[in-house]
Amino acid sequence: MTVPELDATALPQVFGRPVPLPSGVDAPFHTGLTEHRLVLQQCTCGAWQWPPEVICHRCRGFDPGWAETEPEGLLYTWTRVWHPAREELRAVVPYVVAVVELPAAGGVRLVGNLLLDDVATAEIRTGTPVRGLFADQDGYTLLQWRPV
Ligand SMILES: [Zn+2]
Repeated sequence: MTVPELDATALPQVFGRPVPLPSGVDAPFHTGLTEHRLVLQQCTCGAWQWPPEVICHRCRGFDPGWAETEPEGLLYTWTRVWHPAREELRAVVPYVVAVVELPAAGGVRLVGNLLLDDVATAEIRTGTPVRGLFADQDGYTLLQWRPV
């Protein structure tokens, strides 16, 4: 009996620094990020949704479309991370994980890092207007946020 080799690209990365794991359905989002554009799922019925799905949650139509929106939002909630969940994150703590609501995109919410000048002591308030910035990495682009 032969044991099939595992395809490492099909498995979540458990160790190392976390990186995006595109699902395929979210390909337009990741492609948009590499072009420094925020592209989210918006159905022909007008509904925005995130995370993307193969069906629209409002009209039940299949294969909802995509649309570009401004990377502008409001800080919905956040947490300041002091303890590294992985050894590779030890050098970057503290950092702030934010949930940003996008009023211009139907109020969908995205998760990202909130970049601050002094992460350890900065006063952070929900509802703060934030703007996205596109941070190119080795082979992918992250959407991160800064207070306006
Ligand atoms: Zn729809």
